[in-house]
Amino acid sequence: MGSIADSSSVSPQTGIDRLKAIQEIVEASIGTASTDLRKVIKHIYDNPEIAFEEYIAHDTICKYLEDQGFQVTRKAYGVETAFEVLYGKGGRLVSINAEYDALPGIGHGCGHHLIAATSIAAFLGVTAAIKQNGIQGRVQLLGCPAEENQGGKAVLCNAGALKGVDAAVMAHPVPPQQIVPNAVEDGITSFGGASSLAMLRWVVEFHGKATHASACPHLGINAFDAAVAAYNNIALLRQQTLPEERIHGVVLEGPTVPNTIGHYTKCVWIARSPTRGKLQALSKRVLACFEAAATATGCTVTVTEGNMYTDTLVTESLCNRYAEITDSIEGQKTIPFIHRIEPGSTDFGNVTYECPGIHAYYAIPCSAETSVHHQTFTAATGTEEAYYLALKQGTMLALTAWDLLTDDAFYKEVKAEWDVTVKKHSFA
Ligand SMILES: [Zn+2]
Ligand SMILES: [Zn+2]
Repeated sequence: MGSIADSSSVSPQTGIDRLKAIQEIVEASIGTASTDLRKVIKHIYDNPEIAFEEYIAHDTICKYLEDQGFQVTRKAYGVETAFEVLYGKGGRLVSINAEYDALPGIGHGCGHHLIAATSIAAFLGVTAAIKQNGIQGRVQLLGCPAEENQGGKAVLCNAGALKGVDAAVMAHPVPPQQIVPNAVEDGITSFGGASSLAMLRWVVEFHGKATHASACPHLGINAFDAAVAAYNNIALLRQQTLPEERIHGVVLEGPTVPNTIGHYTKCVWIARSPTRGKLQALSKRVLACFEAAATATGCTVTVTEGNMYTDTLVTESLCNRYAEITDSIEGQKTIPFIHRIEPGSTDFGNVTYECPGIHAYYAIPCSAETSVHHQTFTAATGTEEAYYLALKQGTMLALTAWDLLTDDAFYKEVKAEWDVTVKKHSFA
């Protein structure tokens, strides 16, 4: 792959001088937008909404984009809180994914309002560059709800939102120590990505029969026992799973009166595995634990399966280009990618099975004790500094999108690598 610092090995459109000119357009466009966009992002931060209930975020972002003169498809692909904006003509199509959902009880503890800031900024930047340079190429800003727990992008992928898309980009804020433990000491500011675990989620309901626990327990069917049996079955299963595999669950509803045999228990279980193929195999064993618990206690069981988050396919050539861009424009230190599996999951994984994609991470200032999905990170993502770092990521993603649109040799390399990776993972 040609380095952007080596103008002899790349096309004129992606040489460093050319990229600097594009960067100026992108930064000017984001700079003009920053004050009004800050109000949009702050409104989302101040009104956190959970999966598929992001009505305020949806309406606020759509209105903002309409005010900028874009044609916005609200409630896109049949999803109430999704949206889509398409810009440009001909050429390749790059998707920029925006998230904006929050977590129950702790607000924006995953910083998805900052993802919205980055992706909107990137979209404004790259569309300005397309317009001013009169190039062929299209950009999709895809508003993706419900990244937490419900797999909004799985729904959007199934509905065809990524059909015809040639590549997808997004970036997620994290505490520096989540990139690598010594990120602060070593000045590491961003990371092009790693794989993540495939994930499935089940709502498991055991139905029994209530009765007096002391007077006539023999007439009852104990749904709480079923939940306990399921837990114990899974606790035993966990001894015989792959090192990366994770299974965890909670009881959402159950009996509250000790002298009554409970007739109903509702649990939520999550299982994760390195690939979607391995997860399918693991899920059969987990489902057997629920069935066995029902059989042992005489209960019936209802299992409702959620949307599968696939593992994330990493396209190294795309990560390398992102890192070159980031480092050249910021003087920052970026790790292009790491051969590891992040212990969490993201529904961007599903996008990476549709087209080559990059899910970058960037550090925002946090204390050493901060972790995502915690109030400490909610506080860290609400600062002015975090917002402006999100906008800077917008510039980096805009330039990455620009190269995907305009550098044919680079895109060819990205696509060829992804074709091999996706084939290798199809049955893994
Ligand atoms: Zn999260
Ligand atoms: Zn997140």
